[in-house]
Amino acid sequence: MMRQWIAGLLALAAVQALAAPTPWQKIDRPVPGDPQAIGAFANGCIIGAQPLQLEAANYQVLRPDQRRYFGHPDLLLFIARLSNQVRHLQLGNQLLVGDMAMPAGGRFNSGHASHQSGLDADIWLQLPQRRWTAAQLLNPQPLDLVATNGRDINPGLWQPQTAMLIKLAAEDPDVTRIFVNPAIKKQLCRVAGTDRGWLTKVRPWFGHRAHMHVRLRCPAGSLECQEQAPPPAGDGCGAELDSWFLPPKPGAGPAPVKRPPPLPPSCQALLDRHLVAE
Ligand SMILES: [Zn+2]
Repeated sequence: MMRQWIAGLLALAAVQALAAPTPWQKIDRPVPGDPQAIGAFANGCIIGAQPLQLEAANYQVLRPDQRRYFGHPDLLLFIARLSNQVRHLQLGNQLLVGDMAMPAGGRFNSGHASHQSGLDADIWLQLPQRRWTAAQLLNPQPLDLVATNGRDINPGLWQPQTAMLIKLAAEDPDVTRIFVNPAIKKQLCRVAGTDRGWLTKVRPWFGHRAHMHVRLRCPAGSLECQEQAPPPAGDGCGAELDSWFLPPKPGAGPAPVKRPPPLPPSCQALLDRHLVAE
């Protein structure tokens, strides 16, 4: 079972990455131009990104000081849509938006490998009734929805609205994948009933105990955007999900450490131009 090893490597990579700022962090404003998501979700960049408006009635942006609230206009539209639905259906008053992308996308120095092309957003799995204060937004407290055994949700914190929020996002036609903790996927499998088509898009992954990671399809005009293969058909509630709860196979070694792939040429060119202009 490679996944447990991957978890370790991810943690290691996060520590190493912390020490090394990426050149993308030096780009403090979007690259002007027609919006173009370029490359892959975990190896790309974005031209013509837009900032998510920080002052909004239906959502709030977490850790605005990190300035990771940029994205393709389609991502901004998705957040507006989802937060309107949440309010309209009275699931809560505020959608809490975490990391999106940096102004030109690219690799963060910490946290995730994806979020690079302006099409990924972290949405927290709590829907506060009251608006958070500026201090709360700068130091947000995640709600760990997974029990300490790692296999179940925390019943004291889980609410029916949590499942409804994930379902709403999954039913959005622009969304291709949503990542949640395996224990959360298991809970969704349990409560979904007969309407299960949306579960295909909800994928188990490491972490993601307090937020879901939402990924959009490549926008129509983004010719250099690399789409991911669709998730396997079906609700993903059977053997695939079960495999996340198995102990690692004895003798399974760590996966070879891979260097990051070369940047897509357009992203490399963008970076070169920026670094020359500095
Ligand atoms: Zn994410």
